[in-house]
Amino acid sequence: MLDFSIEPEFQAKLDWAAAFVRAEVEPLDLLFPHGGDPYDTRNEKARAIVKPLQKQVRAQGLWACHLGPELGGPGYGQVKLAYLNEILGRSYWAPTVFGTAAPDTGNAEILAMFGTEEQKARYLQPLLDGDIVSTFSMTEPQGGADPKEFVCRAWREADEWVIDGEKWFSSNARYAEFLIVMAVTDPDAPPHRRMSMFVVPAETPGIEIKRNVGTMDERESLDEGIHAYLRYHQVRVPLDAMLGGPGDGFKVAQARLGGGRVHHAMRSVGKCARAFDMMCERALSRRTQGTPLAEKQAVQQFIADSWIELQQFRLLVLNTAWIIDTQPHGAARTQIAMCKVAMAKVLHDVIQRALHLHGSLGTTGELPLAHWWMAVPNLALADGPTEVHRTTIAKQVLKNHRPAEGLFPSEHIPPRLEAARKRYAHIINDSALSGRVNA
Ligand SMILES: Cc1cc2nc3c(=O)[nH]c(=O)nc-3n(C[C@H](O)[C@H](O)[C@H](O)COP(=O)(O)OP(=O)(O)OC[C@H]3O[C@@H](n4cnc5c(N)ncnc54)[C@H](O)[C@@H]3O)c2cc1C
Repeated sequence: MLDFSIEPEFQAKLDWAAAFVRAEVEPLDLLFPHGGDPYDTRNEKARAIVKPLQKQVRAQGLWACHLGPELGGPGYGQVKLAYLNEILGRSYWAPTVFGTAAPDTGNAEILAMFGTEEQKARYLQPLLDGDIVSTFSMTEPQGGADPKEFVCRAWREADEWVIDGEKWFSSNARYAEFLIVMAVTDPDAPPHRRMSMFVVPAETPGIEIKRNVGTMDERESLDEGIHAYLRYHQVRVPLDAMLGGPGDGFKVAQARLGGGRVHHAMRSVGKCARAFDMMCERALSRRTQGTPLAEKQAVQQFIADSWIELQQFRLLVLNTAWIIDTQPHGAARTQIAMCKVAMAKVLHDVIQRALHLHGSLGTTGELPLAHWWMAVPNLALADGPTEVHRTTIAKQVLKNHRPAEGLFPSEHIPPRLEAARKRYAHIINDSALSGRVNA
């Protein structure tokens, strides 16, 4: 039985979170609006505001809700997390204030699963405490959607691994305390066994940030963004810097990417709902040709379509969360890919309509809509492009289907009609009964 219900005690926590994010956290979005601001642990003014807020979140038992108790989180499960993340998705800063900011969430999971005790003490605890940030360094300049194209190498020399090559879009590297790097350790192995994962301290000699690339929504100049174009110049790390075994790079990456994708989708529900609320307010407030916009049929269609799409998406995300909570690891793979694909489309369509209904004002920096709209393409690319996830969905779904046995499809009507006639021959051939039958 599908069950997305939550008990009143947790609803009370959600109510607290909603009021808290609106009153205390959303102001941070206005005071510190740049892409990297939540990750810049050296910004003392921002930290002086954030630290006490994080304390309040902990006191409510809402800190790092993606984590189980073994890692210091409450372990509420994904359905509850989905409801909370909807609230956090309304604000850029909220994930940082609630200890659920990507990519640190996924990196923490990797360290927890594959790190040594020393690595956990040095990096995992401060990461979970929100005192440091980290980077996931996988994509390469010549290819991101297909990791089989990666060429950044790592080889063993005596008691060290040596990493050499380039990485592209390693988000937050300029603020990171450590990087998790995927590199080819065995070029001749089968495609999914060629790579391994390493944890690399940021101060290790040989790491060069060639450029800090900015996306259009980050309001940064060309080379002052947060996505590092990196060069690893024969960077040396000890043998235990490898996370998992040699050739386990794909396995380790998958351990983090599924969670990251569904958490983005949960937050996107909240952002979409906020854009939708703005659309409705505008429709009721703005008048043209004698009536509010809300009375124009075209505007009503905008609102109806947006509401349908938002509700469908929300149910998809909740259903995915419920599958993760109730079924074995990996059972939600197709659902997660569905969330990933749907997220970019629904956000695009709803934000576009909301922006459009605000007219010229919608296109400006005086409302958040244009900024959100510029971030939509990121969601269709980060953690893998839409096309790749569609392929995953189709492949999984097709496993439940078989080719037709003969020349014609199994739904071909002539043989089915023939079979139907045979099945009920005793009735349709009974001349004592009246009635017309498909001849
Ligand atoms: C905001 C943001 C943050 C990111 N952060 C990180 C990070 O922290 N660490 C990291 O390692 N990477 C990060 N990335 C990179 C991200 O993972 C890649 O952008 C993504 O994997 C796609 O790779 P690419 O950009 O090289 O695009 P490409 O691989 O060049 O793909 C370009 C386009 O080709 C098409 N295409 C590709 N493959 C297929 C296919 N199989 N079938 C049909 N069409 C296809 C799609 O239209 C796709 O959009 C980030 C990206 C963004 C936008």
